[in-house]
Parts: sequence; structure tokens; C-alpha cells
Amino acid sequence: MINCIFCQIIQRQIPASIVYEDEQVLAFHDIHPQAPKHILIIPKIHISTLNQLESEHGALMGKLILTARDLAHEFGIHDSGYRLILNCNYGAGQTVFHIHLHLLGGRRLGWPPG
Ligand code: AMP
Ligand code: ZN
Repeated sequence: MINCIFCQIIQRQIPASIVYEDEQVLAFHDIHPQAPKHILIIPKIHISTLNQLESEHGALMGKLILTARDLAHEFGIHDSGYRLILNCNYGAGQTVFHIHLHLLGGRRLGWPPG
């Protein structure tokens, strides 16, 4: 989608530090990391928020989680622990309106989140 920063990353119109890509998903380092390891995993199709998900997207959303699990192994945070976050809309802190799964780890993560 035009004007979507994550679609622009998918199309290589703006740079990102990409760590994984396949036909369905792309993963790259967050530009403002909130933990020593902070990676975003996104679908290659534009879906603006969780509210726009259809039942046909179930496998795709599962793919995001499995990709995050694999990256947690790759980045060595699978044993120490990591957190996956999906923010939906402004009140939850969503600032980029293309669904993205945050993978955070490499430090002790507080709970509950603020
Ligand atoms: P959210 O607040 O859940 O919408 O998360 C959006 C995330 O995207 C934030 O953690 C930003 O730091 C990150 N972000 C925004 N622009 C870029 C970019 N060009 N490359 C990598 N990460 C980005
Ligand atoms: Zn997009």
C-alpha cells in the first residue's frame, strides 16, 4: 500500500536490516530497539490492524509466530526468554498500521507492561 512504511521496506524502497524473508513474511531489526534483541516480523500482504484480520489469515498469523520462534533460536534468546507483542490501534501503542509482531529479548522483561 502506498505510504505504508512497511510495504516500502518489503519493496526495498527504504532500507531495513533484514534478517529473514520468504514468500509470505519479512523480518527485520526494529529501528528503535526496546531490548538488546528487537525484531519485527510482518506479513508481505498489507493488513493494517488485527481488526482487519479474516479467518483466511489464520495460517499467515501462525507463520509470523513460528518465524519469531525460529529467530529467537537464531539470536540465542530462546532459553533466557522472549516476548511476542501485537499492538492494535493507538491506545495500545500501534504507530505503524501494517500488522507486525514484535520479538523482544536479551534482557529481563517486566510484567505487566505499562
Ligand atoms: P508499533 O508501535 O507496535 O506500531 O511498532 C512500530 C515499530 O516499528 C516501532 O517499534 C518502531 O521503532 C518501528 N519502526 C518504525 N519505522 C521503522 C523502520 N523504518 N525500520 C524499522 N523499524 C521501524
Ligand atoms: Zn503495508
